[in-house]
Amino acid sequence: MLTAINNEKIVIARDAQKPGFFTCPECGEVVTLRKGRVKIHHFAHRSTTSCGYGKGESELHMDLKMQVYDSLRDHQDVEEVAIEVAVGNVRPDVLATIRGCRVAFEIQISALSIDELYRRTELYARSGVYVIWLLSVNPKVNTWYRLRRPESWERWIHHSYSGGNRSGEIHFWYGNGLVRPFRYGNYDRGLGMARRAHIVDDFFPIRLPSWTGGGFHYPERRVWRRRMNTKR
Ligand SMILES: [Zn+2]
Repeated sequence: MLTAINNEKIVIARDAQKPGFFTCPECGEVVTLRKGRVKIHHFAHRSTTSCGYGKGESELHMDLKMQVYDSLRDHQDVEEVAIEVAVGNVRPDVLATIRGCRVAFEIQISALSIDELYRRTELYARSGVYVIWLLSVNPKVNTWYRLRRPESWERWIHHSYSGGNRSGEIHFWYGNGLVRPFRYGNYDRGLGMARRAHIVDDFFPIRLPSWTGGGFHYPERRVWRRRMNTKR
């Protein structure tokens, strides 16, 4: 986890100093600030904990959270940005207010069950929050992604953006506020690739009705979706 409570305020591990008294935002137990040259600065529970919050979170996941946070923090159209704050009983990786809309950024590195994707999508919609799922990518993964058949959770995310006259797509984090959108086409030929797009400048909020398609069922949802014809 990247954040903890210190003096009743949320602090980010990168900005926190030792010594200090830090507690878990979820369970209230004391957590340890871990600062290192190699590892991303973070907080960790003691080994005796029964709290599952932040458990098993990868270095990559924490790194991407900080990257998304940093790209939003200094943008003129973003009013508030926070890491790991609670929306109902879900904690989006990053939550920001963009041009008056609350947007949850969910970084998805490993498989999440379809039930969990559905539950979060529904909860965000009910809370008036728009959601965007970000997948991680590097050049090797890029090639691999284009050759393999996407897994069911990836297809669920992809199709969740479908609606109106738009087909689905999936967004890979590219760094510096940019995503690389992909559109699944013929699986034999891999993925269709669109131009890079900026998570603030090129995106807008949209509400979509519940829908069944691509073998999946979707709740009514609010998504943070790319504009068409971005020139980047
Ligand atoms: Zn905890």
